[in-house]
Formats: sequence, C-alpha cells, structure tokens
Amino acid sequence: MKLRHCFLSLVCLLAMLLPFLVHARQFPVLVYHRFAPQAVDSMTVRTAAFEAQLEQIEAGGYRVIPLRQVLDYLAGRAPEPPPRALAISADDGHASVYRVMYPIVQRRHLPITLFIYPSAISNASYAMTWAQLAELRDSGLFDIQSHTYWHPNFLRERRQLSADAYAHLVDDQLIRSRAVLRQRLGRPVDLLAWPFGLWDAELESHAAAAGYVAAFTLEHRPARRGDDPMALPRYLITDAVDAKAFAAILRLADGEREEGR
Ligand SMILES: [Zn+2]
Repeated sequence: MKLRHCFLSLVCLLAMLLPFLVHARQFPVLVYHRFAPQAVDSMTVRTAAFEAQLEQIEAGGYRVIPLRQVLDYLAGRAPEPPPRALAISADDGHASVYRVMYPIVQRRHLPITLFIYPSAISNASYAMTWAQLAELRDSGLFDIQSHTYWHPNFLRERRQLSADAYAHLVDDQLIRSRAVLRQRLGRPVDLLAWPFGLWDAELESHAAAAGYVAAFTLEHRPARRGDDPMALPRYLITDAVDAKAFAAILRLADGEREEGR
C-alpha cells in the first residue's frame, strides 16, 4: 500500500513537471558573416535572403533579443525572456555588416552582437573601420565583442608550436583583443566567439582566466540552461539555409525538442 502510494505520488509529480520538461526554454543563436546582392562565396548571405529571414522571424511571432539577455537567463541572473526569443550575431567585422546589415536591422530595431578580431579593423580591405564600429556602437543596437586578436586556428597552432609558445599565443590573442576593443570602443568586452568554432577544455580555461564569462562556437543546436557557458552553440547561417531550414531553426525557439534528441 505504502509503495503504491509512493508510486502514484511520483507519477503525479512527473505529470506536473512534464509541461516544463517538454517546453524547456531553448534559444537559437544565429551567426552571419557577410552580405551581398549575390552569394559570391559560401559565407555570404544574399541581402534579399537576409531580409526574408527577418520577415520570417516577425511573421512567425518570434523576437530577436540581445544575446546578453539570453546569457543572463541561462546563467540564472535574469528573468525568463519573452516567449519565442532568439539572438543574432555576426562574426569577423566584414564591411557589409556596416553597409548592408546595419541599415536593415536599424529599420527593424534589432539588437545584434558582433564578434570582431581587431587586427583586421581599419586595416584589411574587406573589414570595417573603427569609425564604422563606433557608429554601430552608438546606434545602441550593437554589442561589440571579441573574436580573438587575429583569428588564429588554435588547434593548428597547437600542433605547430611548443607548449610555451602556444600558451603565450593563446593568452595574447584573448587578452589583446579585449584590451584593444575596450580601448577603441570604451565598452566592456567579456564575450568571445571561438575562431572557426574550434575550442577545447584547455582553451576554455585560458579564456576564463583572460576575463571572458561566455564563449560561442558553431553547432547545430539551440542554447539551453546547463550548456557549458564557454562553448555555447550558434547556428551558422549561410546562403544554403533556405526558408524551410530557417523555419525549422525558428521553431526551436518554441521550446520543442529537436528531432532525434
Ligand atoms: Zn570568424
């Protein structure tokens, strides 16, 4: 009798928890790189496709929230974001982020997080200038964060360098990027996107020691509570992501579990 009572209580408890388990919050975090009228390479999203995706977000009742708001919720520091929320980021500081993305997101008032490697800024012909980044910052829509100093492939560097030289390179890349961005743009920098989405436990501990509180990789799943804060997943959006694939990513913001998980 006692055992039966116990079993029934457990069933009741699970039944009560089920809606929360099924609808656990999860947040797709999108990452873009470049925009152009035509998809000139795999990382370039056609301007029309980008606008159609933003339209899909709005028409589906989804909303773009600041990436930091997602992080604060995942870390238990902030209340639950509104339903159907996702975040958008863009890596590498390509000139088309200023030229193409900026006017579009400004019209729609969308918060965007940029991950920048400072060595390219006002230097490489394809990259933005510091003045352009400052303008994005001043729009109030862009949070400008670190993508290391010159975008190394850490795993390749580790194979080629001595242990000491490698540790020195990693620390320099992580620390100098933060310092230069903070000095140039006058805002705190504590988020990191791993170059090429490559990371490991050793890199994570270097990043934490360098003062980063969260870091992002490239992985085809939404971010959830319980994820490693130094390796949070982001969806790489290329021009190959069509409307159907994009809709499937958006649906994850409803809280449903990904197929096969
Ligand atoms: Zn990158």
